[in-house]
Amino acid sequence: MSEIFTGQFTQQEPIPEDGIEAALDVMRHGRLHRYNTAPGEVAETALLEEEFAAFTGARYCLAVASGGYAIATALRAAGVRPGDKVLTNAFTLAPVPGAVAAVGGVPVYVGVTEGLVIDLKDLEARASEARVLLLSHMRGHICDMDRLMAICQKAGITVIEDCAHTMGASWNGIPSGRHGLFGCYSTQTYKHLNSGEGGLLVSDDAEAMARAIMLSGSYMLYDRHSAAPPPETFAQIRYETPNISGRMDNLRAAILRPQLRRLKEQCGKWNARYRVIEAGLRGTPGLTLIERPEAEGFVASSFQFLLADWSSEAVREVIGRCGARGVELKWFGAAEPAGFTSRYDSWRYAPAPRMPETDRILAGIVDMRLPLTFSLDDCDLIARIIRAEVNAVWQAQAEAS
Ligand SMILES: *Cc1c(COP(=O)(O)O)cnc(C)c1O
Repeated sequence: MSEIFTGQFTQQEPIPEDGIEAALDVMRHGRLHRYNTAPGEVAETALLEEEFAAFTGARYCLAVASGGYAIATALRAAGVRPGDKVLTNAFTLAPVPGAVAAVGGVPVYVGVTEGLVIDLKDLEARASEARVLLLSHMRGHICDMDRLMAICQKAGITVIEDCAHTMGASWNGIPSGRHGLFGCYSTQTYKHLNSGEGGLLVSDDAEAMARAIMLSGSYMLYDRHSAAPPPETFAQIRYETPNISGRMDNLRAAILRPQLRRLKEQCGKWNARYRVIEAGLRGTPGLTLIERPEAEGFVASSFQFLLADWSSEAVREVIGRCGARGVELKWFGAAEPAGFTSRYDSWRYAPAPRMPETDRILAGIVDMRLPLTFSLDDCDLIARIIRAEVNAVWQAQAEAS
């Protein structure tokens, strides 16, 4: 009998009890709107901003309605106007080109390497095409940020970081989200903090953050933000910046604050699971692991490997066989978008020329979620199943050829 895994790849941990208590407090007093405060009270949302600013080392932080909203707000605050081109990753998730489209921008895709990061040679070649790079640290893989920033500084490109998969991660000791003008994070259920929906923005730039706060729908109540630039910064900006409502509320902030206090510890748990899977898959013929650079302080909430240059049929066979044993894998090479996964050529509102080298890599990317509801033993079992099924299909291919 072959082993079967029965865990749920989409099942996250429950909200911690102190988060539930804090949420109940907010519901009991009824002041859910972030600007609805009792005399002398600092809203949960403002406190979350202070704490997340401290966590990342940023001067300013803004909590918003979603990660996608955070990115679009960062783009707007950085001055992207309708018709402007925005460089971004070809390998990412749909909300990234979606955020560019939300501000009327035109995505210009940059290729992916076998290390699953943005191709810096390709970025250099396209650097003259746009003034802004929306850099997605897709699936938590961080490129050589020192080189990326040098390329962008030389070309006069403003960098905005999509840190939906790198909350708590770093490059050479600098927190992810702290290299660019803005770092954008998501607190949607499948990310590192869970408030159902939600987003966070950090920046050291007073003017850009003042614009972001106005954009998020602060009305003239920006002085109730405690991780914000001083009121003088808003003097002119408040007349010039539209209100595009996308605030966070106190209920979500109350759920998030206790989780943020545990984030470092949680990151350790994610990485322990990652390392078990990695060790279990190492040396599997035909399967390429993604080696993590020394400088990358990553946080794994998912696992990727490559079935490089395999035929589509063989990749599909592996995914089907693992699925039959309870291991849910996703494939970035599929021609048709499915579930949360889609490819740059599916985003037809932003058409792009074919990218043969990127297509070759996407065709081999297999992806798996790694929720903290999985034990280390679960991870061991998952790795055994993948290893066995990759082996089986690999052997069958070798015999057929
Ligand atoms: C989830 C995600 C986002 C957007 O976050 P939402 O909160 O769902 O809007 C952006 N980029 C990437 C890579 C993501 O995975």
